[in-house]
Amino acid sequence: MKTSIHPDLAALPDVQAADSILRNCVHCGFCNATCPTYQELGDELDGPRGRIYLIKNLLEDNRISAEAVTHLDRCLTCRACETTCPSGVQYGQLIDIGRGMAEQYAERSRVRQTLSWLMRLVIPRRWLFKPLLRTGQLFRPLLPAALKSHVPARQQTLPPLAASDNPRVLLLTGCVQSAATPGVVTALQRLLAKAGRPANLVDEGCCGALDYHLGAHEAGRAHMRRVIDQLLPELDQVDAVLSSATGCGVTLAEYPRYLEDDPVYAARAQRLADKCRDAVSYLAALELPVPASNGLRVAVHTPCSMQHGLKLNGQVEKILERLGYTLVPHAEGHLCCGSAGSYSILEPALSERLQRRKIRALQAGKPDVIVTANIGCQLHLGAGADVPVIHWLELVAADLS
Ligand code: SF4
Ligand code: SF4
Repeated sequence: MKTSIHPDLAALPDVQAADSILRNCVHCGFCNATCPTYQELGDELDGPRGRIYLIKNLLEDNRISAEAVTHLDRCLTCRACETTCPSGVQYGQLIDIGRGMAEQYAERSRVRQTLSWLMRLVIPRRWLFKPLLRTGQLFRPLLPAALKSHVPARQQTLPPLAASDNPRVLLLTGCVQSAATPGVVTALQRLLAKAGRPANLVDEGCCGALDYHLGAHEAGRAHMRRVIDQLLPELDQVDAVLSSATGCGVTLAEYPRYLEDDPVYAARAQRLADKCRDAVSYLAALELPVPASNGLRVAVHTPCSMQHGLKLNGQVEKILERLGYTLVPHAEGHLCCGSAGSYSILEPALSERLQRRKIRALQAGKPDVIVTANIGCQLHLGAGADVPVIHWLELVAADLS
């Protein structure tokens, strides 16, 4: 794709990165075939190719209309288009840049601005988020359905194991996951203990993804630098830093890109990213005891961050099959469930359509349980499914205990 960047923008590093991404696009439109919003809405401007043109126009004209911003905002950042694109267009990076710029040009609706501000204020601050969540859980039976679907029921969880003096692994606890499903990381800790790998929990807080994907790039980068400062002193003593939420895991893996222009933190981000892995890739190499068969039929929902971001599609299935579970296949595995971080709050109608579509596909084979690997998908699908939706680590740890 030929571009002619506006002279006032040409020197900006983000614009230069966007320009080189745009030049790889040959406008073939293959990506529309796997784009959930294009599949649902059928509008070229709600598909990746259309959004790429909108971002190109923004960089060439140095302005963007409110309507064009709406099409950018409807993107889930699921990156299915990246997996499909034969030309290797890095769409995820491009939409982040486009949204960050649009933030400066276009006024969003008051409601959207307020919701974004509230999420950015509350979610990364556990001292604020956790009591609010607990209050919501207390009054959950009385809440209207629309609100209730955003408040997960309180979990019974096993406490963490005692911290080891010589941990082989650090386990990230995250922000939303540590408050809503704290049993996921303790399940992982127990699985690692069974495989002879002592692991300690780390309270690292928000990885920065929420701010960054909402266009607040500097606030996102501030979280990233804080996480790096916290983890760096411990990196040499451990084999790996594991994430059990693929949305956070993909962000950590891409810290070097987010911080590439930072002369101090670029190398530190790379050191951390080199140690960070998703739980599935670390556990795949370990011997886990095979649990007694419980006859459960399991449908696996692979989060977009896992398949299109971390490129770990099929890895959870491999471990579950090795451990003797009966997997129930389903159609449209590449399509996003509509959770997509803050998307289910900011674009509730489209998010709900995708949720229903995904649940229909997952439940078509009549599974007893749906498993996934990311907190957002777990809560989003769990709010509408007829069968339990849990993290795959919880399933395995419960069967082994
Ligand atoms: S598939 Fe790739 S090259 Fe083709 S239109 Fe989509 S982004 Fe551009
Ligand atoms: S990231 Fe997902 S929703 Fe956005 S354009 Fe690509 S496929 Fe469509």
